[in-house]
Amino acid sequence: MKLHEINQAPFIKEMCEATSQLWAYGWAERNGGNISYRLPQEEVQYYLDSDQVKRTIPLDFTVKSLAGELFLVSGSGKYFKNIQKNPADSLAIIRISAEGDRYELLWGLEGGDLPTSELASHLQCHEVRLAQDPEHRVILHTHATAISAMTFIHDLDEKKFSKTLWQMITECLVVFPDGVSVLPWMVAGTSQLGAASADKMQNSRIVIWPHHGIMGAGQTMDDAFGLVETAEKAAEIYLQICSAKQEIKQQITDQQLLDLAEKFHVKPKSGILLEEGLRSD
Ligand SMILES: [Zn+2]
Repeated sequence: MKLHEINQAPFIKEMCEATSQLWAYGWAERNGGNISYRLPQEEVQYYLDSDQVKRTIPLDFTVKSLAGELFLVSGSGKYFKNIQKNPADSLAIIRISAEGDRYELLWGLEGGDLPTSELASHLQCHEVRLAQDPEHRVILHTHATAISAMTFIHDLDEKKFSKTLWQMITECLVVFPDGVSVLPWMVAGTSQLGAASADKMQNSRIVIWPHHGIMGAGQTMDDAFGLVETAEKAAEIYLQICSAKQEIKQQITDQQLLDLAEKFHVKPKSGILLEEGLRSD
């Protein structure tokens, strides 16, 4: 089969657009941020001969349930600003080995670099999200400014953090009814951070890394991107309220959030809203 030019593949274009936009938002300074995108073999086969393995690299953890899965990932040290100029230098397509303890580089990273230093977090999060949702495909990490700023002044209790975000924009509860998870500060790029993030992704699609950034999961690039954008917008409003130094005169009540959940058929994570004894009907 004659292969098509891979830069024309929808998944490469989506990755270029997403990384450019993250940079334009100011959330991907220098080499900040990383994305991994699970690719079905049937989408890749028109662009890549997956029998051609360029390198095999061991992992210092195992992701057995991802055996044989293909991922498009951003490269370590690569600037999101530059990815669209030369995707083959900044991105990689990798395949997880049958044992889940190493990966094969099939395409990209032509300068000899490695995939993102947060690969441990990404793969472990994919493993958890796929177990929850077979349609899951994208993990996106970025240095979202307002979310990061909020972690300096807001209580890091994840129930309180989730509720504050839900109260900032009416649609937040609909977009992330599972709320957000918040980790303690941890060293970036470690498999410990990966394991802790994956553990949190059992219960929510957003994990906040204090004083660092955010990780979001989605079924598509738009889904993951939109999730992170929504949380970030809510955090921006929170910061504006704080900086206004004005008394809050009104806000969305727990009952109103419950009414919203009912209307949009979502189930808010339990333990955040005053769920009992408020309804009159
Ligand atoms: Zn980061």
